[in-house]
Amino acid sequence: ATFYFSLSVNAMFNASLKQLSLQLAGKKISSTELTTEFLKRIKALNPEYNAFITVNEELSLAQAQAADKMIAAGQASPLTGIPIAQKDIFCTKGWLTTCGSKMLSNFVSPYDAGVIERFNQAGAINIGKTNMDEFAMGSSNETSFYGPVKNPWDHAAVPGGSSGGAACAVAARLAPAATGTDTGGSIRQPAALCGISGIKPTYGLVSRYGMIAFASSLDQGGPMAKSAEDLALLLNVMTGFDPRDSTSLQRDAEDYARDLQKPLAGLRIGLPKEYFAEGMSKDVESAIENALDEYRKLGAQTVEVSLPNAPLAIPVYYVLAPAEASSNLSRFDGVRYGHRAKSYGDLADMYRKSRAEGFGPEVKRRILIGTYVLSHGYYDAYYIKAQKLRRLIAQDFAEAYKQCDIIMGPTTPTVAFNLGEKSGDPIQMYLSDIYTSAANLTGMPAMSIPVGFGDKNRPVGLHIIGNYFSEAQMLNVAHQYQLATGWHLQSPV
Ligand code: GLN
Repeated sequence: ATFYFSLSVNAMFNASLKQLSLQLAGKKISSTELTTEFLKRIKALNPEYNAFITVNEELSLAQAQAADKMIAAGQASPLTGIPIAQKDIFCTKGWLTTCGSKMLSNFVSPYDAGVIERFNQAGAINIGKTNMDEFAMGSSNETSFYGPVKNPWDHAAVPGGSSGGAACAVAARLAPAATGTDTGGSIRQPAALCGISGIKPTYGLVSRYGMIAFASSLDQGGPMAKSAEDLALLLNVMTGFDPRDSTSLQRDAEDYARDLQKPLAGLRIGLPKEYFAEGMSKDVESAIENALDEYRKLGAQTVEVSLPNAPLAIPVYYVLAPAEASSNLSRFDGVRYGHRAKSYGDLADMYRKSRAEGFGPEVKRRILIGTYVLSHGYYDAYYIKAQKLRRLIAQDFAEAYKQCDIIMGPTTPTVAFNLGEKSGDPIQMYLSDIYTSAANLTGMPAMSIPVGFGDKNRPVGLHIIGNYFSEAQMLNVAHQYQLATGWHLQSPV
């Protein structure tokens, strides 16, 4: 009865951020009402999906009331009053922040991550903390201490990972948009498998302060949403210099929505021959080919390019990411915060027991690999070698960009696999990121947008890789496709 929204409730759950913003600004609905509706939906559906680790109605509604005051005072910006689901890797003051791990299952953060601060300043509402693979290590959300997440398109399938809860929340319309982080594909791969849009920006654009570190030279936060237009609005809030992150870039602010309307005539799309080779399944290939045909209709031309070192991306990533992880995770020792074993002998025994109990098997595997490749005698053979190959991979892209403006291919080799299908086989799981990890190794921006369905009617994502700082152009390229087609509007619920 208190519902003033000029759209139906169902339309509200499907509304774009711009539509929600207009409804809020026009006082058709208050942020308190909007937030209440999403909280109700989460309460009803999250027991099935498991997309959220923590929901805190009191904290969310307090933010909504503050947003309503901002709107009433004429101080609203585009995201004021809009609920956003935050990946549980972002430290959030007063909220349980677990990173999907038993190690942090008792950690209430005393401070906000840079990204959280930015959403707070914009007046956005934190609608809950989303489920994820433990310490963002995984491609299926199955390594989470809090259990797997379901893919809303097919409850037998994984949602992808590590930002699986975020992708599920957006696809199942439990939140209008979400944040994710991407170290080797964790925004793009779950976005692809859940049929939503997601972008990993150029390394250094989004603050890593308070974003629990996995592999610092690869980690980058970014938005996940229903459309490229929504991603642009979210990036406008998320990006910006943060002196507390030593790799944060000092650049002028950009409006990432500025080029959305540009026509695509003359756009040169590079198709790496290594990505259109064996490995990609037939159903994915046909959806990608249809998308490329659509781009040709929009006036773009496609050119074949080559990334000869593409097959090295996975082995290089799986040396460097664990190496950095083994260093980053040494802070979890049971002393200052997080899980501490109940009974232990001396200090070393406390470290051992706390870590043995607090970390899951995938995290332990990464720490062991990382410690090994960094150890005396193996450092040159593995770590240094991988760093050299990382440079070669970046050079491949620099060469390719002499012939094209943007690169396209599949985001993932197959559609979503079944829960349990790969969880016993780490190597198979690691191969999920075969197309995505190069963008982290090079620091380039990359995104995924939905372009149709493959086997068992599961979504297919188109991977769009841009040159450094070309986010506005990539969002333009994605938005024009979304204007011409309707895949991004399809919802599983
Ligand atoms: N799937 C990759 C891994 O397990 C990437 C994860 C990520 O991007 N956080 O490391």
